[in-house]
Amino acid sequence: MRVAIVGGGASGLVCAIECAKAGLEVELFEQNKTCGKKILVSGNGKCNITNKFLHTSDFVTSNTALVDEVLKRFGFEEQKRYFASLGLLLHVKEDGRAYPYSYEAKSVLDVLLSAAKQFGVRITTEAKVTKIEKDFTLSIAQRKERFDRVVIAAGSAAASHLGGNRSGYELAEGFGHTVVAPYPSLVQLVSSSKYPKMMSGVKIEAEATLFVNGMKERTQRGDVLFTDYGLSGLAVLDISQKASLALKQYSAVDVALDLIPGWDKNALAKHLVDVAKNNPSFTIETILHTFLPAKIVKALLLFLDIDKSMTQIGMKLAKKIVFRLQRWSFAISETKGFRYAEVSGGGVHANEIDPKTFESKKQKGLYITGEVLDVVGKRGGYNFAFAWGSGFLSALGIIRSSR
Ligand SMILES: Cc1cc2nc3c(=O)[nH]c(=O)nc-3n(C[C@H](O)[C@H](O)[C@H](O)COP(=O)(O)OP(=O)(O)OC[C@H]3O[C@@H](n4cnc5c(N)ncnc54)[C@H](O)[C@@H]3O)c2cc1C
Repeated sequence: MRVAIVGGGASGLVCAIECAKAGLEVELFEQNKTCGKKILVSGNGKCNITNKFLHTSDFVTSNTALVDEVLKRFGFEEQKRYFASLGLLLHVKEDGRAYPYSYEAKSVLDVLLSAAKQFGVRITTEAKVTKIEKDFTLSIAQRKERFDRVVIAAGSAAASHLGGNRSGYELAEGFGHTVVAPYPSLVQLVSSSKYPKMMSGVKIEAEATLFVNGMKERTQRGDVLFTDYGLSGLAVLDISQKASLALKQYSAVDVALDLIPGWDKNALAKHLVDVAKNNPSFTIETILHTFLPAKIVKALLLFLDIDKSMTQIGMKLAKKIVFRLQRWSFAISETKGFRYAEVSGGGVHANEIDPKTFESKKQKGLYITGEVLDVVGKRGGYNFAFAWGSGFLSALGIIRSSR
């Protein structure tokens, strides 16, 4: 039986390996010059391959059945064993994030490509699939070829420079599938406030809280990077998933930053007053610069309309400064868009896929896996976990259907 896999990313490679291991004739088509571009850059080149604490509630999807099935049958332990069977050992951090022991994404791609080769997967690169006919004839550049089973594992629209595009959605639509409007997720946030630009380049350990229509949605502590357009950094990417979804629904989105997380506000206010008293010639700018980056001090004083050369700090003023440091809100107008997003929300409606096999409910013999589906996880190995898992389960489905 001949199986065509459209897309040589995380999901397509695992599906191809498993089908070929079972003796099926597998051809994988990848539009890029090489497979697995996103694997290579993932986790800042370290590849956060999966997570020990995978849970359905960490995913946004139109139907949780797909995630439930992956976590039940190919969850963290199974993924760990699977990679170990290919010789790839994992380093699991306390927070659950798992990485290859080498901490090099390249080892993950190398092992997948070696396994694909070992089991006889035929990989054709620079081969964009532009059409799939009802009888599973694929159009690939000038070539047309017929297959018995087809897997759409073409990923999402996120990160176009790495191959992200909409063709997976379009190929699925050709079989009558509904596509939940894709939106960029795990992405930097654009603010209409002028202050992030003033602080551009400053990276600080902070607590970022997302407010949607004034309601607190999620808080994340970690790096926050101020940029010319708004906010970036790992804490911001973490809360961006819900921010992005809220922006898509035209809700009001704000991010409030605590720039001094963990500090006692009264103690800090007293400290400011005491320093000013003990050093009467110190300006407020100098005093704040003892614990904050200069660009933040400048922007904060402008925002609060405080003269930077002021030398006397009373308790009322100190409390006003501390209050703002603990809750400085920035209105978010949009995300940085698909080009910069790590993943994409939305995609082929999860109701239209059989969760046991990832076979399309619209077309027998067609399978759809990975990020092209309307399933998006939070940052931390969740999206690869779903990509490997759906690729693996679809292979089981294809193998069973071939017997
Ligand atoms: C910068 C960055 C860092 C990331 N880091 C992490 C991380 O550390 N941990 C994590 O869990 N997730 C991470 N992700 C997300 C993760 O990479 C994706 O969720 C995952 O790769 C999805 O797997 P996939 O197989 O569905 O799609 P992809 O890996 O995107 O693979 C799809 C493949 O299909 C090809 N293709 C598309 N259309 C066609 C077509 N018509 N014909 C032929 N080929 C086609 C594409 O070129 C691509 O190679 C990161 C993403 C980015 C962009």
